[in-house]
Order: sequence, then structure tokens, then C-alpha cells
Amino acid sequence: MEFSMSDEQRMIADTAREIAEDFPPEYWREKEEKQEFAEEFWRAISDAGFVGIIIPEEYGGAGMGMIELLIAMEELAANGCGMAGVWYLVLTEVFGALSIVKHGTEKQKEKYLPKIAKGKLEFCMALTEPDAGTNTLNIKTTAKKDGDEWVINGNKIFISGADRAGGMLIVARTTPKEKAPRRTYGISLFLVELPNPAIRINPIPKHGINYSKTCEVSFNDLRLPEDSLIPPQDEGWYLILDILNPERMSFTTAAIGISKLAINKAIEYSKHRRVFVDPIGSYQALQFPLAESYAMLEAAKLMNFKAAWLFDNNVNYREVGSFANMAKVVAVEAGIKAVYWAMQIFGGYGYTKEYDVERWWREINLIRLAPVTQQMALAYIGEHILGMPKSYRV
Ligand SMILES: Cc1cc2nc3c(=O)[nH]c(=O)nc-3n(C[C@H](O)[C@H](O)[C@H](O)COP(=O)(O)OP(=O)(O)OC[C@H]3O[C@@H](n4cnc5c(N)ncnc54)[C@H](O)[C@@H]3O)c2cc1C
Repeated sequence: MEFSMSDEQRMIADTAREIAEDFPPEYWREKEEKQEFAEEFWRAISDAGFVGIIIPEEYGGAGMGMIELLIAMEELAANGCGMAGVWYLVLTEVFGALSIVKHGTEKQKEKYLPKIAKGKLEFCMALTEPDAGTNTLNIKTTAKKDGDEWVINGNKIFISGADRAGGMLIVARTTPKEKAPRRTYGISLFLVELPNPAIRINPIPKHGINYSKTCEVSFNDLRLPEDSLIPPQDEGWYLILDILNPERMSFTTAAIGISKLAINKAIEYSKHRRVFVDPIGSYQALQFPLAESYAMLEAAKLMNFKAAWLFDNNVNYREVGSFANMAKVVAVEAGIKAVYWAMQIFGGYGYTKEYDVERWWREINLIRLAPVTQQMALAYIGEHILGMPKSYRV
């Protein structure tokens, strides 16, 4: 067992902290209010090599793993960027780069990875559908072969970054559910360059994280060349797990980073704010919830790094999923509590935009719902770790 960071990992953490200093909470307050993509931040993390952390060196990346990516994400988030420190990296590096690194063909790697590593190509993933929701295997988007082309039709919802991405990972059915020999058979993954006239994209107004748009997407006879499929055809379900588990780990890191940021700001404030005789930070009523959630966040962090270690060492997806789900459940419960109490410490000021904690409250609440809901993560633990009967019918 090894708990210390390597020199390289420490350097990543230091660099991330330095970048975060240049993009403090006020920067994100303004970006959110203006609903603007953070171009300067994107450039800074690209120049630092963060967008290419998991891309092999031969394609212009750093050739590292999920552990290093999570280190960068946490330091960015916890030192001022909040959710933004994770969000942009998830969309492009996890949805785009990781799916191609893990399962793309040589031609797909050469086409996409060098551009992603340089920060010249943003990505998004079109998985969720209005009528399928959490039940991914129920997706209705189809990809049918017509000569040597694929023709894709269907509707997606909540696709983050689709408004500006140059690449999209599409999850579609290549064999209808009724004809599939197994429940997980018949799903395939495709890569497409954007914009494309056969893809309609409409941003959906949302509660938070407005420095990035989340969109409805529809495919209307989208024609793609044969080699846009990430092989093997019909077995995409197992490929998606290699994306969804790292996505889960990244959002757990977001919960940890946002919470630490909010806790630290609240502690700073609580040391100076006096209402009665002593600073409010001396009251146990305010200290204990922060202390308890902090301890839980550290526990979640250990489980999350274990998930990342298992992933980086190619241990099977079930083991990775077990730790990724447990870490996510704990980090979100602890994070909601942490940010709730941070906001409480600011009293009425916490309700104003000026103190930023209201933004982190909106950000942390997303992680209850996405990338997987708390209920579905618990169902995974009940079924796959505890061996209890499946709690829902499919
Ligand atoms: C801001 C935002 C950004 C997103 N970005 C992306 C993206 O980039 N790409 C993408 O593909 N998707 C994205 N998503 C989609 C996200 O992953 C889904 O919203 C999420 O998986 C939940 O699906 P749903 O909203 O359809 O909820 P539903 O599946 O309809 O669930 C509704 C409720 O029912 C509960 N429920 C459902 N089934 C069960 C069960 N068996 N047992 C107990 N409870 C159950 C759920 O826990 C939840 O509370 C995004 C969503 C949001 C809000």
C-alpha cells in the first residue's frame, strides 16, 4: 500500500493550485452570470497539459492515468474553481479522449487525440435520452447500416458542451432490444465531428454551472462513414462502462473539491465574524457539521483513489464500479452537508451572490442527480456488492 504522491503527482497538484489562483471564485461568478464559456481557463489547463493527462505520449499527451487526472481536478476545484475545475475536463478528456484511448481504432486515435491534447478540440457525449433516463439500455436512438454508411436517428437530452464541441461520442442501438440475445447486446458507440447539419442542438436553461451549456440534441438521418464506429459493434455497453466509471470518479472529486472550497471559505469567515462575544467559528453547532462532513470527504477520497487505481491497473469494471459508486454516495452526502453548513455560517450573506457559496450549493446539488443518481448508486451497492435481490424490474 502506498499513500504518498510521486514527484510528478505533486507537480501536477502544485500546477493545478497555481492555475486555480488565477481563476478565483469572482472569475467564475462573472462567467456564470454572463453564461460564458471560460476560454482563458480552458487555454490555461490546455497549456499546462491537463487536457492530455490520460492521452499517451505518442499522441501528444502525458501518458498518465485517472489518479493524476483526479489530482489535477481536485486541486483546481478546491482552490477556487469549484465545479468548473472538473466539468470541462470531464467533457473533453473523459468523454472524448478516454473513450478513444481505451477503445478507439488507430485511425481514430490519430485523428482525434493530438487535437484534444493541445486543447484544440472539445468533446461531448450524447448518451441520455428523454424516454430512457437512467435506464440506458432502453435508448431509442438507432444506427442502421446503409451501404458503407451508418444512418443515425434519435433524440438526446442533457448533453453538456454540445453547443460548442467539435467532437461528439454518440451512444446508439445497432440491434433492436427485442432482437438482442442478451440484455446488454446491441449498443454501439460512434464518433462524429461537429457541427453537422443533420444534428440539431438546443441549449436548455438550467439551475447552475452556466459557464457551460447543456443541450437537447436530435439526429435526423445523420450519415457517418463506416469507420466512425468504435469497435466492436453491438458490444458498446462494456465500452461505456470504461467511460461511466471514470465519469463517476471525476464527479466524486468535484463533490470533494467544491466542498473543501466552501468549507475553507466558511472557516475563514467564521474566524472573524462576531455576533455575540466570540467568533461564530467557536460554536460547536457550526463546527461539528463541518468536521463530520470533512471526515467523510476524506473517506470518500480514499475510496475514489482506490477506484482510480483499480481502473489504471485494468482490474475488472465490476471492482472499479464498486469503489466508484461507494465513493460517489459518500462524497455527495458529505458534500451536501458541507456546503449546506458553509452557507449557514455565512448567514444572510450566504444567500447573496457576492459570497459564492450559493453557487457551490447549486453545483453540488447536481451531483445528487448526475452522472448517476444517489438511488441508482445505492442500488448498485445493494445488488453487486451486498448480493441482495435487484430492487427494480427492467
Ligand atoms: C446538468 C446536467 C448535465 C448532464 N450532462 C450529460 C451529458 O453530458 N451527457 C449525457 O449523456 N447525460 C448528461 N446528463 C444526464 C444525467 O446523467 C441524467 O440526468 C441522470 O443520469 C438521471 O437521468 P434522468 O434525469 O432521466 O432521471 P430518471 O432516470 O428519470 O430518474 C428520476 C428519479 O427516479 C429515480 N429512479 C429511477 N430508477 C430508479 C430505481 N430503479 N430505483 C430507485 N430510484 C430510481 C432516480 O434516482 C431519480 O431520482 C446531464 C444531466 C444534467 C442535469
